[in-house]
Amino acid sequence: MSFESLGLAPFLLRALAEQGYQTPTPIQQQAIPLALAGHDLLAGAQTGTGKTAAFGLPLLQHLGTAPQKVSGPRKPRALVLAPTRELATQVHDSLRGYSKYLRIPSAVVYGGVGMGNQLDALRRGVDLVIACPGRLIDHIERRSIDLSGIEILVLDEADRMLDMGFLPSIKRILAKLPKQNRQTLLFSATFPESIKQLAMEFMRNPREVQVTPQNTVAETIAHRVHPVDAARKRELLLHLLGQDTRVQTLVFAKTKHGSDKLATHLEKAGIRAAAIHGNKSQSQRLRALGDFKSGKVNVLVATDIAARGIDIDQLPRVINYDLPMVAEDYVHRIGRTGRNGANGEALSLVSQDDAKLLRQIVRLLGRDMEIRDLPGFEPQVPIRWGNSAPGKAEQPGGQRPPRKPGGGRGRRPHGGGEGQAHAHAGNRAGNRGGNGRGNRAPAAATHAQQRNQQRNGGGPRRDANR
Ligand code: AMP
Repeated sequence: MSFESLGLAPFLLRALAEQGYQTPTPIQQQAIPLALAGHDLLAGAQTGTGKTAAFGLPLLQHLGTAPQKVSGPRKPRALVLAPTRELATQVHDSLRGYSKYLRIPSAVVYGGVGMGNQLDALRRGVDLVIACPGRLIDHIERRSIDLSGIEILVLDEADRMLDMGFLPSIKRILAKLPKQNRQTLLFSATFPESIKQLAMEFMRNPREVQVTPQNTVAETIAHRVHPVDAARKRELLLHLLGQDTRVQTLVFAKTKHGSDKLATHLEKAGIRAAAIHGNKSQSQRLRALGDFKSGKVNVLVATDIAARGIDIDQLPRVINYDLPMVAEDYVHRIGRTGRNGANGEALSLVSQDDAKLLRQIVRLLGRDMEIRDLPGFEPQVPIRWGNSAPGKAEQPGGQRPPRKPGGGRGRRPHGGGEGQAHAHAGNRAGNRGGNGRGNRAPAAATHAQQRNQQRNGGGPRRDANR
């Protein structure tokens, strides 16, 4: 299938060709024709699937070909809401690239920076606004933006926005938009009840499209768990990074403070590192990201929320210094490696405190995970992977004992003295490495995600300090 066959206008096709886009991704194939036909869309897709172009191209085509619906002075005609500044900036950059041969005045609106530039841009008049909900509310209150002319609304990473507590802001924003003649495109990785309700309330007979997160949880990623005592995680991280300091590595930490401390610790040890999280100013974040992309720093320590929207192609390694509090975030984290068939590594440093979280992740992924003790870092107290009888170790994925690489029954993860032996967190014994699993693992992930969300009453809330 080609972009031409999706019904896109020549001015977009030319820009896409220049960017080297040859074939539409699955979400683009499904979403673009429906969006061009004017339907509301509920789209299940994650970062890395090409979702930005999936909503961005129809949106730009509309702005480039249809005249403004309301008469009078120029008002914003399209609004994209995104959870983080990084994602907003990235969407803005992508749309600017796609609209190279159009004149679409646009503004990006997010907090943490002065109002001046945003006010200037809005005053000059724009067709397209990409905004984080909090700052957009500020503009609405100051009456520096008039949303009564919005023809297309995109909610990007809607689940994440709700997770971050933006539902009240989103509802306030929606109340300012025209109810008639508006197209709404909602993109989300998961569909907890809260999103379905939002969709029922604010969308007109939406069409549903869904791509499995297969590209994200790529088969080319090696998932490895390194058991370690919590107090020795830093040491182990240094050991892993020190093995080859040239490998660009994204390290995930739980808190803002923790990521700062970790980055400082790495720098002191001679590793070029930067931290990125919500307490950093926008310019600090952009600098850290730029330095990481250019290779000036080799390690970027990030919190989950700050890392949303980071678009780095071909990232070879992700290390979970802390496991994510919400299993779905593991999928988002490792979605940054193993793209487009490249090999990637996802390493997790797991202490006894993390065992439960790891089990949830393995269950969500529906796939094996290798557990490997590193000599000299074996935990003092063997990690108990589950809730079985005292002294009986479980694997994170379920109740089965671990297996050795050859498939035979093996040692418990910390049987002692077998530092390099492998064990698998398999809850699908016998399937490891086989292609027979096909697409089932991602599908299992999606269902498990939804179950998980439901169990948690429509989406777990996150630490306020991340
Ligand atoms: P997204 O999921 O929108 O963040 O896109 C992930 C990455 O894929 C970005 O670097 C895009 O530029 C790239 N991309 C999106 N669609 C295509 C396509 N059809 N062909 C090649 N690259 C693409």
